[in-house]
Amino acid sequence: MITGKSLNKIYRDRAGKSVHALLDVNFTIGEGEFYVLLGPSGSGKTTTLRTIAGLEHPDDGEISLDGKPVFIGGRICIPAERRPIAMVFQSYALWPHMNVFDNISFPLKHGINRIKSDQVKARVLHSADLLGIVEYLDRPISQLSGGQQQRVALARALALQPRVLLMDEPLSNLDARLRGLLRVELKALTRSIGITTIYVTHDQTEAMVMGDRIAVMQSGRFIQEGSPRDLYERPQKTFVAKFLGDMNFLNGRLKNLHESFVEVSIDQFNLRGLAVAGLSSSQISSKVSFGFRPEDVSLVELFRGSNGLPAVITGKYYTGEALLYQLESAGHVLQVRAPKDQSIEIGSKVFMEIAPSSCLVFQEN
Ligand code: ADP
Ligand code: MG
Repeated sequence: MITGKSLNKIYRDRAGKSVHALLDVNFTIGEGEFYVLLGPSGSGKTTTLRTIAGLEHPDDGEISLDGKPVFIGGRICIPAERRPIAMVFQSYALWPHMNVFDNISFPLKHGINRIKSDQVKARVLHSADLLGIVEYLDRPISQLSGGQQQRVALARALALQPRVLLMDEPLSNLDARLRGLLRVELKALTRSIGITTIYVTHDQTEAMVMGDRIAVMQSGRFIQEGSPRDLYERPQKTFVAKFLGDMNFLNGRLKNLHESFVEVSIDQFNLRGLAVAGLSSSQISSKVSFGFRPEDVSLVELFRGSNGLPAVITGKYYTGEALLYQLESAGHVLQVRAPKDQSIEIGSKVFMEIAPSSCLVFQEN
């Protein structure tokens, strides 16, 4: 449905320094898919979206929609208004002096995507109905809350009946509660109308809740792509592991490589875990990072000789759904999330047990 091939984009900043905003970016997004671009600020998410929309052009590479090229470096460049795409921004970009109806109908009456005038009203009503804002159609934009304004922006985008919906951090200006509600509603809406959606966010929860697939971006690159579960349970880089949730890391050395697991020595202890792609026997004795999630640790009093390390509890926090412990072990500060009925005193010596299948061994630090 949407493909990007070898996309590169270099900007020059004010000092004349070049910024590689896109670095050999490739993607294939399926019909009806909800695809999320996740990454920290400045990683190239907006640039990716704007090149798909045609608001920005890559220096080279290819973009196609529905199998038809809309951009081929140096040869083809279909202008933004001729691409079957609508875009929604963080700053709703509404016309403040117009009412809701006029905002939604404007692109249907003017410009290249206009439709027959006797069809405008039905189209606006249908789109307003999808977003639950029919009762506000006569109101001026200035009398709406942020959440309502974002609904209007979405209704305006959907009224164009685009093949692809692009959204750039559309919920970031809303408070946390409303964001949580709109997230699930938006996802359900795009699924019910079957529209292919690309959604940009720097919020990992939003990405996990909404995405059928997520691409994690860092410094202009797509560094890993997969389902929320893939990325959370099988991150290929420590950056991905840290960006999606929390992960503890211990510095160790690779001791042995077996078929289904690897052994790592940390202080005088040997721990087992799963090798992340790229680890090979040539790296035996070299430094590795041994990672595990705070919720995958059991705190026990007596070590049963399985996978684990001794630790001392240095902090304890009640988070509502769990107890979050801070621990020190092998010279590292670690976090463990335990059931809230398992209360252990600060200062206690414990053992951390972690199933080898929940431990990941990364070659980088
Ligand atoms: P994100 O949306 O992930 O925050 P962007 O795609 O906006 O990231 O930006 C990627 C990089 O490109 C950043 O370093 C940003 O400063 C730079 N950049 C984006 N747009 C421009 C521009 N018009 N001129 C110069 N640099 C830009
Ligand atoms: Mg951005």
